[in-house]
Amino acid sequence: MFHEENCPFCHTDKDKDQNIIFENETCYFLQHNKEQDVLEGCGVIVPKKHHANAFELTKEEWNDTYELLQSPKGYLEQEFSPDGYTLGWKVGEVSNQFIFHSRFYVIPRYDDEPLAGKGVRYWLKHPENKRIKE
Ligand SMILES: [Zn+2]
Repeated sequence: MFHEENCPFCHTDKDKDQNIIFENETCYFLQHNKEQDVLEGCGVIVPKKHHANAFELTKEEWNDTYELLQSPKGYLEQEFSPDGYTLGWKVGEVSNQFIFHSRFYVIPRYDDEPLAGKGVRYWLKHPENKRIKE
């Protein structure tokens, strides 16, 4: 299946707040206007074809994701001068993925953020997140 009817990442043109910043043969780098307030400069790299998650990407899409990561990095450094990045994929509802079109998060991070120094593992490694086994 190439595109899903109600998937926002299969139909980026239907959302006027979605901006295609870069693209190559198989992927887009997108920035959404409504995500720029707290997560300044954030974007996602998505395959043009509908794939549920990163495990379904072809090698070509991985390569094109890599290539697009390099382009935004130069662009983001010029536009926003971040102090670092948080990069990653969510896979499955347990990981907070509710739109099942693979996307690679590119989140610039800044020294003056209230949560500076904390990454995705910060929340996950809290003792209250430990599984309870019988
Ligand atoms: Zn899709």
